[in-house]
Amino acid sequence: ESKNPGQSEFLQAIHEFLPTIAPYLDKHPELIASNVLELLLEPERLIQFRIPWQDDNGNWQVNRGFRVQYNSAIGPYKGGMRFHPTVNESVMKFLSFEQIFKNSLTGLPIGGGKGGSDFDPKGKSDAEIMRFCQSLMTELQKYIGPSMDVPAGDIGVGGREIGYLFGQYKRLNGHQGGVLTGKPLTYWGSLARTEATGYGVVYFVKHLLQDKGDSFSEKRVMVSGSGNVAIYAIQKAQALGAKVISCSDSSGYLIDPDGIDVALLKEIKEVKRERLSAYIISKPTATYIPGESVWSYEGEYDIALPCATQNEINQELAKALVKSGVKIVAEGANMPSDLEAVVVYEENQIIYCPGKAANAGGVAVSALEMAQNSQRVPWTFEKVDNELNDIMKQIYETCRDTAARYAQKDDLLSGANIAGFAKVADAMVSQGLV
Ligand code: NDP
Repeated sequence: ESKNPGQSEFLQAIHEFLPTIAPYLDKHPELIASNVLELLLEPERLIQFRIPWQDDNGNWQVNRGFRVQYNSAIGPYKGGMRFHPTVNESVMKFLSFEQIFKNSLTGLPIGGGKGGSDFDPKGKSDAEIMRFCQSLMTELQKYIGPSMDVPAGDIGVGGREIGYLFGQYKRLNGHQGGVLTGKPLTYWGSLARTEATGYGVVYFVKHLLQDKGDSFSEKRVMVSGSGNVAIYAIQKAQALGAKVISCSDSSGYLIDPDGIDVALLKEIKEVKRERLSAYIISKPTATYIPGESVWSYEGEYDIALPCATQNEINQELAKALVKSGVKIVAEGANMPSDLEAVVVYEENQIIYCPGKAANAGGVAVSALEMAQNSQRVPWTFEKVDNELNDIMKQIYETCRDTAARYAQKDDLLSGANIAGFAKVADAMVSQGLV
């Protein structure tokens, strides 16, 4: 705490992580002796820079840019870029710390990183977004590369932003397809990358349900958020027979008792870039509740998929989930449940699927995009989607089996942390703790 004053999100991620790996360390005293934990709490490199850009009125604006290159033990740094006013050093460090173990769980050779800016893309013109992205990349390009550090999208960074970032990188360094992932399909993007995180979280739950002789069929599902992860989680859950009754944005939440109309949602969010409240204009039987958390909803449902942002579920909202009859919480977002919410899940035998396992599908397909870029060969949608499904099955089984071995049945948080950590710690020690 004294080394990271005021960095509440980063400290929260560490507090969640450390106790869960204790049973593994008990069996591996050599890791304590080598001090690998202390090294792991310190990022390899943290880059912070100024991003000057000109708005449409000709005024100069300035934002703060970050890239945290946290851990390269098992591969080049890999993790998204986030554009949101809440971005700061603490948020960047928590996200990149989580990313280490998530990337390790995918079984693919990628290390942990994350970046972004406190720039708010809401209400900006395309030209402003472009000038901002170009200015950001003018600095960031010094530190990244296809075998060094490969950024992707996150909150506020989708295909449009990746395109502008890629264009500026190319202008300065020539065409290097593998420097970013989440690229549009016309220049080395991967089919199924857009869908990957949302589909992946649903595949994770599908395998969990199958393991218990159950399925998504007839399940009532609540989703928060209405961005990239939420949209494709809704789409896949409905394709597997569930009814998804909600989604949300930072202004409020939507309940559609008929099940969310994904085509309408995509039109509003991806094409028109409007607010979610526009949904009820086309679908008056749905209700939009402004200013409230979707998790305060009092109706009944079976599965919760938080897909918006960190700490969206606190103790009080977790208790509301319990009252609604939820059996499974699977995180599409990173750390959407705070520490006290996780305790409420444990006390009420809710199966908790932490983000670092359940939302790893996005980065996994990003790594498959890197593989396609290296091969110079694009894969079909079906091939990528099948690989994604297999990877999510393997992640679920790894978490399940590791939990059974070191913690308790269905303690997928411990399973994810231990399995993710074991590989990284081993690689760090064998490389001489570099
Ligand atoms: P998007 O920007 O596409 O969507 C974010 C959604 O969450 C929007 O509906 C947004 O509402 C809402 N939201 C964001 N911040 C807040 C807030 N402070 N309070 C309430 N609502 C908020 O982002 P993604 O869908 O890509 O990311 C969502 C989550 O998933 C993040 O935690 C991200 O780190 C995680 N994730 C994303 C991956 C990916 O591949 N994209 C991979 C793995 C994890 P509004 O429009 O009003 O801001």
